[in-house]
Amino acid sequence: MANQQSVSRVCPFCEATCGVTIEVADGAIVKVRGDRDDPFSRGFICPKAHALKELYDDSERLRRPLKRTPGGWQEISWPQAYREISARLLAIRKKCGPDAIGMYAGNPLVHDLAFLYLPVLARALGSRNVFNAGAIDTLPKEVQTGLMFGGPFPATVPVPDIDRTKYLLIVGANPAVSHGSLMTMPDAPGRLKNVIARGGRVVVIDPRRTETARLASKHHFIRPGTDAAFLLAMVRTLFEEGLIRLGAATGMVNGLDSLQQSVRDFTPEAVADYCGISAAHIRRMAREFAAGEQAACYGRLGTCVQKFGTLACWGVELMNILTGNLDRAGGVMFPRAAAPATALAGTRPFKLDRWKTRVSGQPRVGGMNPSSAMAEEMLTPGAGQVRAMILLMTNPLRSAAHSRELEAAFAGLECLVAVDFYLNETTRHADFILPTPSPAEQPNYEFGLYHLSVRTIAKWSWAAVSSDSPPAWEVMLKIGAGLLGLEGRATKEVDDMMFAQVAQTAVKRNRHWEGLSVEEVVSSLAESTGPERVIDMLLRLGPYGDGFGRNPSGLTLGRVKGAPHGIDLGPLQPRLGEIINTQSGKIELAPTLMVNDLPRLRDHISNPSAASQEMLLIGRRNLRTSNSFMHNLPALVKGRNPCTLQVSPHDAARLGIANGSAARVTSRVGSVIAPVEVTGDLMPGVVSLPHGWGHDVEETRLSVAKAHGGVNTNFLTDNQAYDTASGTAVLFGTPVSVEPAH
Ligand code: SF4
Repeated sequence: MANQQSVSRVCPFCEATCGVTIEVADGAIVKVRGDRDDPFSRGFICPKAHALKELYDDSERLRRPLKRTPGGWQEISWPQAYREISARLLAIRKKCGPDAIGMYAGNPLVHDLAFLYLPVLARALGSRNVFNAGAIDTLPKEVQTGLMFGGPFPATVPVPDIDRTKYLLIVGANPAVSHGSLMTMPDAPGRLKNVIARGGRVVVIDPRRTETARLASKHHFIRPGTDAAFLLAMVRTLFEEGLIRLGAATGMVNGLDSLQQSVRDFTPEAVADYCGISAAHIRRMAREFAAGEQAACYGRLGTCVQKFGTLACWGVELMNILTGNLDRAGGVMFPRAAAPATALAGTRPFKLDRWKTRVSGQPRVGGMNPSSAMAEEMLTPGAGQVRAMILLMTNPLRSAAHSRELEAAFAGLECLVAVDFYLNETTRHADFILPTPSPAEQPNYEFGLYHLSVRTIAKWSWAAVSSDSPPAWEVMLKIGAGLLGLEGRATKEVDDMMFAQVAQTAVKRNRHWEGLSVEEVVSSLAESTGPERVIDMLLRLGPYGDGFGRNPSGLTLGRVKGAPHGIDLGPLQPRLGEIINTQSGKIELAPTLMVNDLPRLRDHISNPSAASQEMLLIGRRNLRTSNSFMHNLPALVKGRNPCTLQVSPHDAARLGIANGSAARVTSRVGSVIAPVEVTGDLMPGVVSLPHGWGHDVEETRLSVAKAHGGVNTNFLTDNQAYDTASGTAVLFGTPVSVEPAH
């Protein structure tokens, strides 16, 4: 009889946090299934959950550190890896200064407890050249919520209260497939259908008739990159027709008159042709939204990765605030995390750093540079040039704009250290690859995502199987220790030093529990170590916590671990007063940054560039993959090729390209040939390629991905086209020409 057990955890492959049960026999994963007892997901999973097993089993996943040598890759021990990495990085820092070593963190880190050690490593690095995956697609939202509510991100991002809303306006998002982003909710398709089932409406604005649009009550095509104009015309209509109702925000806003002045020329008539939506429809939607007593406007990737991303995010938020739907049940609300990130953040109101990137002077947001500036910071000589990089679970040569330039940038580094379990298109340039365990081998708590959750949830994810590799947090702590000259010190000793600093900040920010001291927190948790200790502290200090004994029935990590399927702490609650952290103490409706960016939008509306006469390229999400490493997992890539160039029938006929033929797509920075899929789901004038593909590089160890190579859309996206307010590169709305490929 095999030694069998069932392990409960959260699936780490998107932001939905579905509960899964992993069946284990004799130390191996046998099966992954939805956890019916999870109070949040109730058994729902999507096909990606099975990757927990496939990733664990994948023989191409690295298990020991690799070092590049003249004779090829060599396996080395962990102590040797730490020793040599410290020596190489310290030498570069000594020669060129701290900014010479950059860091880039990928989104799998968000699903790893090592996320809590990112600030530790960043402090040890002391470099201003810090990038992360959020710099690809969330910076506009961070800038917008920061300027309007005061930050910090993501603790001040309101999310649709989707389980109670009666009117959901979705702009540039496809939650039926993405399963929600900056909005954590399992079973997005079910939740969307329920809005309609209880008599509500779901309206989708998107250049593609997405899977979400097919579930919706109504879908309108919109030209890529014009969401800001569309949303500001909706806002303008609210003013014009006397539909402003501030609801919970009454008496808590600044800048209403200035806003009205700023949007006065964004009439629906002025933007209709530009957006591709009639003025009558824009007005009708604004009226419908204002009339809905529980309405929520939600924008995501499509509104962020475009030329006017910050303005589009502003428009989304204004719709919610001006119709009284902010902080209202069924509108948009601020989640209250059981382990709050605010305990680790500073208290100062959000503001953009005065420091700008060295080469193109782009803004730095929340200590992070836009990824559109990454290649130029590596390639442009001079003081502060990035000569070495630390990559954390990321493949930017497939995920960030202008891959060919990034390829040259990474190939030219003096040292590249990659914490990653694959030899992929980016890590093949590394000098050292440090493979950390797969998700099923590590415990986790979805610390970041529970700040965006549509219900308040606390759930511990147990490791289902063991690993010989150290966890990512320990690897990051060791690299950091090396940079601080603490190489060789015991992990616990370095971790205690780090924790004492974290505890100091957390106790200073404590608002719930009287008389709590740093000494009390540190001594209570002295036996513990690593990120589990940090999570325990945050849970105990948090709004549902035990306050280190002051509220004996409150949460501790032990109690959360004792509920293997998770604890549901209820629906979202109003809490606007706790959230606002701006200098004025009010919601800023008309931040200067946005108002000053309006002339750029007006120019674009009145003077569309020659490029806009070309086709516009957008991305699209596929249900079975989110990160490029998933392309090496057979169950997720089998069947029909998802990496096609979608073209509308109108454009296909005009361009002389047929379904199943090949088309050449050319942008300012590159050209690719892709198989054509003609579909009525695309707006005429728009073509779509999914993101993260193009696995045609010989030196990788990704045999399954290579067999399903696809086309890299980031050979076409342009890092010199960006939202100037946030520096975010345009991924949706790249001008391209399309022609038959013979
Ligand atoms: S929707 Fe799929 S990928 Fe996302 S958490 Fe749920 S099972 Fe995992």
